[in-house]
Amino acid sequence: MILHIAIRKLKFYLRFMFTIFLYYFKLTPFQLKKNQSLISVINYHYFLGNDVDPSDPSLEININVLRKQLLILFNTNKFIKNSKELSDFFNKKAIDKKFLITIDDADYNIKKILPLIKELKIPIIIFIPFGFCLDKDNILGLQCRYLHHLYFKLNKDNKKINNKKILLENFNQVMRLDRKSLQNKYLKLIKDSKSFFVKKKFLSIKDLKNISDNNLITLASHSMTHLPLKNLPNKWLKWEITESIKLVKKIKGDYTIFAYPYGHVNSYNSNVKKILFNHNIKFAFSTRSFLLNQNTDHLELGRTYFFNNSNRNYILGTAFGSMQLFDNILKR
Ligand SMILES: [Zn+2]
Repeated sequence: MILHIAIRKLKFYLRFMFTIFLYYFKLTPFQLKKNQSLISVINYHYFLGNDVDPSDPSLEININVLRKQLLILFNTNKFIKNSKELSDFFNKKAIDKKFLITIDDADYNIKKILPLIKELKIPIIIFIPFGFCLDKDNILGLQCRYLHHLYFKLNKDNKKINNKKILLENFNQVMRLDRKSLQNKYLKLIKDSKSFFVKKKFLSIKDLKNISDNNLITLASHSMTHLPLKNLPNKWLKWEITESIKLVKKIKGDYTIFAYPYGHVNSYNSNVKKILFNHNIKFAFSTRSFLLNQNTDHLELGRTYFFNNSNRNYILGTAFGSMQLFDNILKR
């Protein structure tokens, strides 16, 4: 545990120093590539009241820190509003540098940042892992939550055997279970879990319908179960996409955009991209840190993130693309 914290601190410190250095010497992509159109997408996850210490400062941000971060961005460049403006960016030839704010995972505390969003008029896209927002009494919600934790258990137990076959068998079995036995199995499975998907509270479908009325906010799919889609059998994968699109339509969201759960290089592949494409998804976001230019693959849009820190040079350096270079050097 102590080692874990030390590694995390070191990880932050290296990124922080690297970013400050690049920004100071004007070496970030926004500062260097004067004649190129670029979008920097910044992704958030969870928000905390100001008196709570984050347990993971790369995923949890205090609301007063968020306020400072957004103000720094607000005073520097304009923001992309929605998928229409994103399409315009790829079609237009004008030289532009913009930010786009996204929030993954539909944390309940998003409610607490709505006044700030309204005050600064900053547009945001929220990507929703629907299974966690459905009511706990809803069988579909229960199936998703159970499948999420079951996947990690099966992965741990069956490292070397044909995983996709085992996953498919389990998926089919879960779909046949009645609510009561599913509930019992789920409670048993999460008993000692420390996962944010057990500990955190998520926005309900009703909350999402209310938030959807806000014209600064776009709601979109982050799958049903929040699993690395690349590793799922096709039947399960297609179910993730079609079920979540149905729910996006129900809450009046944008069903042409998507964010890959986890979003790292091993969480999606060309098969996942093909299936998204066949379901009319036009833009899909990863969590790889490259900026968007006019040649970027629309189904592999990069995003970066901030630690729970509001140093101006760190925020601007990161937003201007320092992590793209950082990950390039580390060949990620
Ligand atoms: Zn996520």
